Order: sequence, then structure tokens, then C-alpha cells
Amino acid sequence: MSKIIQLDQHVADLIAAGEVVERPASVVKELLENSIDAGAGIVTVELIAGGMTFIRVTDNGCGIAPDDVKTAFLRHATSKLHGAEGLEAIGTLGFRGEALAAIAAVSRIELLTREPGASEGVSLSLEAGSVSGMSPAGCPEGTTIIIRDLFFNTPARLKFMKSDRAESSAIAATVLRCALSHPEVSVRLIRDGKTEYHTPGDSRLDSCIYSLLGRDFSAGLIETNSSDESVTVAGFISAPDAARGNRSYQFFFVNGRPIRSLTLQAALEQAFANTLPSGRFPSCVLHITTNPGNVEVNVHPAKTEIKFVSDKQFFDGVYYAALGALDRRKATVNNADRLVLNAEFGTPEPGTKRREQWGSGAKTGSGFKSLHVDEYRKKFGSGDPGAGSSGVADSRVGGFRAGGSGVVDSRVGGSGVVDSNNRQDEEPQLFQEPFRVIGEALKTYIIVEYKNSVWFIDKHAAHERIHFDALKSGDFEPMSQALITPVVCRHGREEVSVLLDNADLLDKLGFTVESFGDDAIAVRRIPDDIDIGDTEPVLSEICAELMRGGSAESMRRDNIYSSIACKAAIKAGKSSTTRELESLASKVLSGQVAQCPHGRPVAFEIKKAALDKGFLR
Ligand code: ADP
Ligand code: MG
Repeated sequence: MSKIIQLDQHVADLIAAGEVVERPASVVKELLENSIDAGAGIVTVELIAGGMTFIRVTDNGCGIAPDDVKTAFLRHATSKLHGAEGLEAIGTLGFRGEALAAIAAVSRIELLTREPGASEGVSLSLEAGSVSGMSPAGCPEGTTIIIRDLFFNTPARLKFMKSDRAESSAIAATVLRCALSHPEVSVRLIRDGKTEYHTPGDSRLDSCIYSLLGRDFSAGLIETNSSDESVTVAGFISAPDAARGNRSYQFFFVNGRPIRSLTLQAALEQAFANTLPSGRFPSCVLHITTNPGNVEVNVHPAKTEIKFVSDKQFFDGVYYAALGALDRRKATVNNADRLVLNAEFGTPEPGTKRREQWGSGAKTGSGFKSLHVDEYRKKFGSGDPGAGSSGVADSRVGGFRAGGSGVVDSRVGGSGVVDSNNRQDEEPQLFQEPFRVIGEALKTYIIVEYKNSVWFIDKHAAHERIHFDALKSGDFEPMSQALITPVVCRHGREEVSVLLDNADLLDKLGFTVESFGDDAIAVRRIPDDIDIGDTEPVLSEICAELMRGGSAESMRRDNIYSSIACKAAIKAGKSSTTRELESLASKVLSGQVAQCPHGRPVAFEIKKAALDKGFLR
């Protein structure tokens, strides 16, 4: 029989720390919140690599009195709650007085702080939660805290950290959200010596968005401001023609806190239901204010989830705010450009797909009936913004994929998909015996009768390989489509410079790119078979490949060809015309294609003899 023992304080602290401090980004979130709570007007976050070895947060807030500095690092030490009357506030603010103690338990800390007007400040250092030094110090007013060697004493957690790049982007995302929720604070993020974000702190949400998300994003925004008795929604939504291929630019804040919410996401997207083709997502920066009694924040301190006492109240708040903004905009904006663009690329009429997903409830105007939130969840699954949803797979914008076989023929200048990749070699293949395409199974496999066998061909893999070989052969002339409205892709500065440095290579591949500010490029042409919506992902993949050190040039090139081929290939799960199926089958059966670029087989043969044997003939 084992004995119940009480954990010693150190172990208990480490366990508690694990709950607050999951990764460097959670440290940054807590420190930023502390600075903002301290009334700072200027906060700077600096990090090296992924923040594992160095994070520094500097603010010009109220500082900490010398008598209080040690206390601040004790568990349950807070200046923000007093006694039991404050306890209620835990419901709205989450735990209190945990963060500094938790961070200190798993790192080495240096703190410098001086209260405004005080003649000197104080410096404190801690290692694994124990004070290792304290002395008076000359320092600027406000607080500077440096966190080094995060998780140095918890190797198990250290193992779970992702790459520096991943941790560093998680920090950037945290800083971004925090900065967007506090336009009154000037927030600066410096990653590896380079300023990544710098907001003016002029209390204007528009200038804050502009500085964080850039000119093109800002240009596509519509302001919205609406309130009813319980919920106020203010901020910006994207115009329909500024929609994106994912949800990563949907930012919601409730009472100043960044939150993720399927309910709010559903509300926003439903307002766009008849305006956007499926697979395109609106963006937004929306600040929702409500009486704290209407929400329950999850009491886990690191979580960004929230519970609404009434989902419907909040759904309607966001839905009508967005719808109102869209309606006002419709009255003033002429959408001619977008319609031309859509016609060019064979995009289904805006909203057709959506209407079918949302059912007959999806009409705008006063007769609107909200889709129930649970229904939305069922239909759109994943709660992870940006992770895509069932809607995404159906949503190829442009190209024949959008509308199935019928669209192929109506494409401007479009021949069948295979022909468009290999226009140079149109000669029919010579076969000893004719083959017969029996049909397509599961919208994925072509079934062909050929000689004494039945063949199954994976149409995506086959097409991908054909495209890949064509690219690799070098004598491939990319057929590309000029975009009437260039696609603006936002990438980090480093990526932008890599893409521009390789503009010639990209040109050979069918992409024309131009500089568009420090952290964006404008794409004016893309290869014929790439969906507009895939432009950004495919360029990101190419860029990642170009930036990858260490591997052989030829291997990198193959990887680039393979990403393009994969995006350009017809997708499994979409039905294809007989002509496309025949064209693919002929390439495979003539022996041109054996494996997809990833090495998976493309075709699979069952001989008549084997079938006969199976039937005991
Ligand atoms: P909480 O923020 O919930 O109070 P923390 O552990 O994050 O708990 O911080 C403990 C206390 O340390 C705060 O209540 C505050 O008094 C003080 N503190 C922390 N960071 C700062 C800062 N940047 N400026 C001034 N005071 C700070
Ligand atoms: Mg705190």
C-alpha cells in the first residue's frame, strides 16, 4: 500500500509552472499583460531565436517598489486582487498572482525596476525560483525583465519544444494579438535584432492594424460599429474581395482579451455566406465589449477560450455587425473588377457553394434565420482557426476543380487539364492494343481495361508525376495566367527578399512576382493550373525550400517542382471528365509514369488470370 505524501514545495511549483508556462509564447503573453496592467504606454519585447535562451520585456509602467520585488515572485502574490471581494474577479480575469512565480520556477530571471519619481531602482536575480541576488540599481523608470534558459531545470518539457522558428512565430502571434487588443499601447517586437512589429500606441485601431498587418490588409477593411443592449462590436472586417484562403486573420477580442471562438467565427462567416465562394474566408479585427457577467473565461490561466452565457447573443452581435458593414459597403462599391476576375478563372458564382452548405437559411435581409451554432460546428468541424475545414477541400478557386468537369470546357483558352501541361507533346500514344477507360471509382481511381488486365490508376498521383516530369525536363514552357488583380502575399521580410532574389527562377516556373513593401509581394502571373487560392501556400513552400540550407541544389529544385506539381494536379475527390481520365490513362499505360514525385505508385494492375483464379474459373 503506497503512502500519500505531500509534494515538497519545489515539485509543487514546477507542476504549477507547467500549467502557466507551456512554451516561450506563454511567457511573453504573461509579461506583456503585466506591462499593460502596469499602465505602460510603451512595451518592447525582444527575443533571440525562439525565446528559449533570451526574452526581454521592457516597459515604462509603474515599476515595482523595492520592498515588493521579492514578493512579486511568490506564488499567489498579486497587487491586483484584495481579499475575498476580489475573488469573484477570478471568473473574469483568470488566475491571479501565478505568472511570475511560474516563470521564475523554470528559468533564470533578471529584473530591473524603478518606480516613477524614485531616486533609484532595484535589480533582482533569480534562478529556478530562488533569489540569487538583489541590489539597488540605476535604471530607467519602469520595468525590464529578462528570462534566460527557459525550462533548463525541466528537461522533460524542454523536449517538447518545437523548432526555434516555430516558437518564434508563436511569440510573434502572441505579440500581434496583444498589440491588436491594446491600440493605446505602443508595442514593439524585435526578433533576432530586427524590428518585426511596431505599433504607434495612438489608441486608433486602424493605425494599429496598419502597422501590424500592413497596407494591403488595411486597404481591404470595412469599419463596423454596432451595439445592442448587451453586446457592442467595433472594429473592421475584410471586404469580400480581400478574402483569404484561410482563417488566420480572424481576430476576435472580448473585453480586451484575444479569444478563439467557433461561435464568433461562424457568425462572421455567415454574414459573408452569399458573398464569398467557399474556401475563401473573411478576415476581421473585432473588439466585443460586454458586461463581464455575460462571459466566463476558462479559469485555466493560459487558455484563450471563453464561454458565453448566451451564444446566440454574441453570434447575432457579430453577424449583424458584419452584415451591416457589408451592406453599407455594397451600396458604395462597384464590384466589376472582381466579377471579371471570377469569369476569367471559372470561379463559381460568388456564394453558390456556400448557399448549398448553409441550406436555405442563408439569405440576407430581414427574413434571415440564423444557423444554429451547433449546426455550424457540425458542418465546419475543427476549432482551430486556419487549420481549414471540410469547406476548404471543396473550395478550389478557379480552374476546373471548382465546378467539376463542366467548368473545364468553359475556361478561357482552356483545353483539358492534361493537355494544358503538355501542350508540346500532343501526339497520340501508340498502344499495342487500345485501352478502354471503364470509369472512375471513388472520384479518385481511374479504372481501365487494357490487354488482359484491369488497371487502377490514382489520378492525382499520375497527374502530379506528369506535371513534375514536365517541369523537370526543362523544356517546359509554363502556361501562365495573368491576374487582373495581383494577388498580394504577405511573408516575413526574409522570405520576401528570398522570393525577390529568385524572381528569375519563379518566372521560369510561371510566377511573376514584384516587390510590394517590405513584407509582401505582388504576384501578377501564376501557372495555369494553380488555383489563385494556392498562390500564397505554394510560394511559401517554394520559399521554404529556397531557404533550406544544407541540401543539394538538385534536391531543392526537385522539391520545388514537386510542390508545384502537387498543387497543380487534379485532386482526388473531384470528378473528372472522360477526356481527362483517358489522357491520364494513356500516359500511364504507355509507361511514361510509374510513381508520383513522392515515390508512391501511380497504377496498380490486376491480371485477368488473377481475377479468374479468384472466381475459381
Ligand atoms: P498578476 O499579474 O496576476 O498579479 P504576476 O505573477 O503576473 O501576477 O505578477 C505579480 C505582481 O508583480 C503583479 O501583481 C504586479 O504587482 C507585479 N508586476 C509584475 N510585472 C510588473 C510590471 N511589468 N510592472 C509593474 N509591476 C509588475
Ligand atoms: Mg500577471
